[in-house]
Amino acid sequence: MTQSSPNPAPYSEPRERMVDLIRRRGVKDSLVLEAMRSVPRHKLVPSGQLEYAYADHPMPIGHRQTISQPYIVALMTKSLELSTWDRVLDVGTGSGYQAAVLAEMGMEVYTIERIPELHETAAKALEDMGYDVHCRLGNGYEGWPEHAPYDGIVVAAAPSQIPEPLIDQLAEGGRMVIPVGRVHGYQTLWKVIKENGEIRKVDLGGVAFVPCVDEG
Ligand code: SAH
Repeated sequence: MTQSSPNPAPYSEPRERMVDLIRRRGVKDSLVLEAMRSVPRHKLVPSGQLEYAYADHPMPIGHRQTISQPYIVALMTKSLELSTWDRVLDVGTGSGYQAAVLAEMGMEVYTIERIPELHETAAKALEDMGYDVHCRLGNGYEGWPEHAPYDGIVVAAAPSQIPEPLIDQLAEGGRMVIPVGRVHGYQTLWKVIKENGEIRKVDLGGVAFVPCVDEG
């Protein structure tokens, strides 16, 4: 008699395909890929969209906001060049997916969202999934100074310029990844590195993010 194999975890196949696609598009960082292979993204998208949970495109999460495209999350996360236990600020919690990936990688994660309903839903989902993420309702443009400096800062909403408070809260040698540009216009994804108190910028390409509101 043949023994039947145990049921695979739900969504493990589409999640594997998502990770394969990201790797083929050029993100090879194993810490990032392993984390994205583990985080149950389907628990963070609206229930009506479950079949697209692992498709490589952004998706509405209500309040005119989106969960970012998986490839872009991978690109931004690997560009932070993190080591386990680094302290990371995630601006624009949204669904909580970026924060979950960072937590899964073993980072100390602080995340800020300005829309109360999204903040509450994400905080609860992250807790239910067992991630120890510090969630706060507030204006991410101002950062979260009480826990600064951060080894990494990742911003998922585009301001018209790099917020001064975020530069101040970046550790010496720290990295920030942030889209900058016009509302609903062309935006550039920048990697910002703090060296000897000065910042150096590297262009990571063109992107389209929701606007960062409440600029200082
Ligand atoms: N990282 C999220 C992406 C969400 S989209 C994810 O993985 O799902 C960007 C989010 O930034 C939105 O939820 C939006 O409400 C939020 N946002 C925009 N401006 C903000 C601000 N000034 N402070 C905090 N959050 C902001």
